[in-house]
Amino acid sequence: MFRTVSNFDRIGEENAFAVLARATELASQGRDIVNLGIGQPDFPTPPHVAEAAAKAIRDGHHGYTPATGILPLREAVSGDLHRRFGVSVDPGSVMVVPGGKVTMFAAILMFGEPGAEILYPDPGFPIYRSMIEYTGATPIPIPIREENGFAFSAEEALSLIGPKTRLVIINSPANPTGGVTPKAEIDALVAGLAKHPDVAILSDEIYGTMTYDGEQHVSLLSYPEIRDRLIYLDGASKTYAMTGWRLGWSVWPARLYDMARKLAVNSFSCVNAPTQFAGIAALNGPQDCVAEMMAAFDKRRTLVTEGLNRLPGVSCIVPKGAFYAFPNISQTGWKAKKLASALLEEAGVATIGGPDFGVHGEGYIRVSYANSAENIARALDRMGSFLADRK
Ligand code: PLP
Repeated sequence: MFRTVSNFDRIGEENAFAVLARATELASQGRDIVNLGIGQPDFPTPPHVAEAAAKAIRDGHHGYTPATGILPLREAVSGDLHRRFGVSVDPGSVMVVPGGKVTMFAAILMFGEPGAEILYPDPGFPIYRSMIEYTGATPIPIPIREENGFAFSAEEALSLIGPKTRLVIINSPANPTGGVTPKAEIDALVAGLAKHPDVAILSDEIYGTMTYDGEQHVSLLSYPEIRDRLIYLDGASKTYAMTGWRLGWSVWPARLYDMARKLAVNSFSCVNAPTQFAGIAALNGPQDCVAEMMAAFDKRRTLVTEGLNRLPGVSCIVPKGAFYAFPNISQTGWKAKKLASALLEEAGVATIGGPDFGVHGEGYIRVSYANSAENIARALDRMGSFLADRK
């Protein structure tokens, strides 16, 4: 009998890709679609970064690199972390991976198996749950609540830890909510974790450079007491507008590093060499490109939240990070996924239904403001007319 392994009955996916495919299909039929669904900066990769990859190709960097990544890039990651957080990270603990996703994939494979429990944020990036289910471990959602400003609650997270807990996943600034967890809450989480020395932590900080209103991102790397069980996830996708390049990096505790290296050897071998050179240019080069993108995102954040709050039945707290708003649509009379689908099909605006990010996402939709101010204004107009007509 032709048969694949049963784990694949449980693996999920990211509906944002399905929405993107549908939006593209509608556009190819001549429909005018505004895409506020996709989670990627609409800016080009900074030219000096793209040029570094072109130069690497011209210079003949065509071969395999070490599975963990080339040393100058691992040193650049270490330098970046020192500049941003004042922490010292041995380049020998840094892994270069093809996108932030690969770090979560590796970490969840290391800790997930039947009988184990893994805590993860809900609503949260859908791949956490998908991969936990794939391994046969039990996914335990940490509810992320609007009344907390979409920060996670340390108390609630700690209360969910039990004898079977192997790994706790946290994400700040967060997808899909734009929530930023304050330092006091992270302090409380770290203090509480002292009672659970066998629990590992995966800190997804892919939006770590993307905060607003002077809010400082607090990295879990700043807590020496958990460094021996912390996996730090980061990458170039969001900060440097490089989603399609597939470049991420992670910091691993010594006892996990060799497992991560072996997973690389058994799967992708290494990130393509020219992209690694682009990563060095991104991290070691001028950072004004990041500041410029953030200034543009900040203006759109105001536009999007003010506009959403004017829509009938919609309320939206001002997100403190990333480039997503997560408006509460429960007073519109619509279920979230139905609304997202009707907005795309009937109003030509792509968004993502909150339940695509977990059970606690019902009553919300995710609106990405990685689109021009003009397009955001058009989308808001269309959403307003749609909601007024379809009461
Ligand atoms: N983590 C979070 C919270 C994300 O939102 C994303 C992408 O949307 C990723 C990780 C994955 O990033 P990458 O595209 O680098 O794999």
